[in-house]
Amino acid sequence: MNPVSGMDGDYVDSAVSDYWALFSENALAVALPFLTAVLAALLVLSILRYQRLNRRVQGLSLEMGSASRSLRNADRDLRTLFDQSAIAVMLLDRSNKSVLYANETAMTAFGARTEEQLTASVMQKPDAWSAAPFSLLDFEEIIYKTGRSGLQKFEWYFEPVGRRPVWLDSSLSIISYKGGQALMFTGVNITDRKHAEKADRYRHKAMTSMANDNGLHATLDHLAAMAESRMAGARCGVMVHNVEGARLRWVGGRSIPEAFRETLDGVPVAFGAASCGTAVFIRGRVVTRDVRSDDRWDRYRDDAELAGLRACWSEPVLGSSGELLGTFDVYHDEPWTPGDDDIDALTDPIAIASLAIERHQAKGQLEQMVLSEQMVRRISTDLLTLDPEETDEGLTSTCRALGGFYRADRVFLCQLEEASQQVWISHEWAGEGFDALCQHTARKYPVITAALAKVFAGKASVIFSTERDIPPQLEFLQDLLALRSNQSVLLAMVHRGDRMSGILGIQMTAPVNPWTPQRSQTAELMANLFGSALNRNQLLHSLTYQAVHDQLTGLYNRHKIESFMDQEVARCTRYGSTFSLIIFDLDHFKSINDRFGHNEGDAVLSSVSSLVSNGIRESEIAGRWGGEEFLIILPETSLDSAVPVADRLRSSIESHRFSIPEPVTISVGVAAFRPGDTPHELIQRADAALYSAKESGRNCVKQSF
Ligand code: GH3
Ligand code: MG
Ligand code: MG
Repeated sequence: MNPVSGMDGDYVDSAVSDYWALFSENALAVALPFLTAVLAALLVLSILRYQRLNRRVQGLSLEMGSASRSLRNADRDLRTLFDQSAIAVMLLDRSNKSVLYANETAMTAFGARTEEQLTASVMQKPDAWSAAPFSLLDFEEIIYKTGRSGLQKFEWYFEPVGRRPVWLDSSLSIISYKGGQALMFTGVNITDRKHAEKADRYRHKAMTSMANDNGLHATLDHLAAMAESRMAGARCGVMVHNVEGARLRWVGGRSIPEAFRETLDGVPVAFGAASCGTAVFIRGRVVTRDVRSDDRWDRYRDDAELAGLRACWSEPVLGSSGELLGTFDVYHDEPWTPGDDDIDALTDPIAIASLAIERHQAKGQLEQMVLSEQMVRRISTDLLTLDPEETDEGLTSTCRALGGFYRADRVFLCQLEEASQQVWISHEWAGEGFDALCQHTARKYPVITAALAKVFAGKASVIFSTERDIPPQLEFLQDLLALRSNQSVLLAMVHRGDRMSGILGIQMTAPVNPWTPQRSQTAELMANLFGSALNRNQLLHSLTYQAVHDQLTGLYNRHKIESFMDQEVARCTRYGSTFSLIIFDLDHFKSINDRFGHNEGDAVLSSVSSLVSNGIRESEIAGRWGGEEFLIILPETSLDSAVPVADRLRSSIESHRFSIPEPVTISVGVAAFRPGDTPHELIQRADAALYSAKESGRNCVKQSF
């Protein structure tokens, strides 16, 4: 209900309006300051709020600025971090392989200074690295795989032009970068490890090749490669010292051009013989920084430059007892000197090379010893079991065997005869392309045997490598041997008892002196074997001679004559031919003995024998049949032909002036073989004829019919 509902309406209305008028007047007066205050308060509040908001905005913008600064810092920190990292990091644009970012390590690994350069000179350049083992296509393939399968890991071998090859253990992944996608490449440089592994592989190969006896060449080749793996840009060679020849042989190292290897092969051990020859000569390291300015390279400089070699470092290879086994040579195509690392790098290859060369030499010596031993055993057996009749063939074939063993040009045996002061080549063998020293019969050369022994000066053998070296005592050999260049001859003394009885000669062609002490000793041993074979042969000859010859007259003895008779009878029986027999006896020989003595009698018997030997043909055989009885066999001779022979003999004796002052005569009986005769029957008939001659007054010839 309206609160004023019981009052008059107009009054109310006017009251209200008055009230309102009053009120309005008063309210306005009251409200205006209030409103003003409110408005002011609101204004203040708004200002405060604005200021608060403004501060907040400022705070936020400060925060944003610092956030973006720290973001920039983080990016820079990250780059700094990457730049100092040992890992190569690279960001690549996926589409065109342009380099967005590469850290220092990546730049160094690829040999670029800026990202642009890296893009242009490597990543977008198809021939930036050699095709092996990975080509650019392989890299693109890896990028493609990264796109499909995510992170890819691979080993990247990279050969920057003119720089040492690089191995990177790499990974490639796709990352978000600056609102897009990029390829992130990371690579750990494993070049040193790879080279060490490569060096280890070569070391292993060298050791295996040594253990398997694949040859010194193979082992030293691997060692040269091992050293090359450890030294950037190095090309290595290994030379082996030939002690006898004082020269170095090129044995290992394939990366040096063959023509240059040939140039240095056989280089002498001398000061000024390149770096290697000098290193062995001075027993120490020789470094030639530049062959152009090193006198020791005078003779080899042109060839070295032709082979593209400018620097050479030669390190002697020593054996376990300090002996010089060879040199390890490191070449570079630019002037160069080794640093401590290089010297370290060569320590192992040199130690293994020393082992390999020593082992090879020991093996070679052992093989030589076994071969020598086998040959000496075989030849000594052959010579000692030689049939006296086959001695000459035996000695000649021994010369041949020696020639084969030594790979010689000639092997010859000279014999000395002290009595006649002569020397001759009795047996020989000449290799293909070499003439025999004595073509048909051995010519004898006068020689002073006592002076000959002096040539040897107490040694068992001497070696001559030029004709000028051959002393005058051996003049006969000078022309015969006609030593060529690279040829040498070893002469070993042949003995009989304590006297020199001959010379064994071995002539050889070899670029370096082939006469190692071992070879010389074997030759000396062979000379001794030849000596004992000759002595044995002479002994056998003299025994055989004595067995069939009469000591006083030198004619065949009765035993031998009987065997000749048997042979002749057998031959004539088989072929139906004939032969004759002359038998004679000195007349009144007893009286010669009695009057002139037994010795004079012996002298007469010797003279008669000489007359007989000189008076018969080579095919006829004379022997002493008994005391002063002699017998002659005339093969293929009839009785009619034999009688005049007998008479000529009788006459020659009769007319000969012996040492006794009176003539000597003989009575002769002649008989011819008849089919069916036994030797005994034939002799009996001849004897009967002789008896008949004696009966007929002696000094005559009778025949048995
Ligand atoms: P003829 O034959 O003419 O009948 O008379 P003869 O004097 O030669 O007799 P005989 O044949 O009986 O004598 C041989 C003598 O020869 C006997 C022996 O003393 C001697 N005689 C045998 N062998 C040798 C020898 O080797 N040296 C020497 N000096 N005499 C020898
Ligand atoms: Mg007589
Ligand atoms: Mg007699």
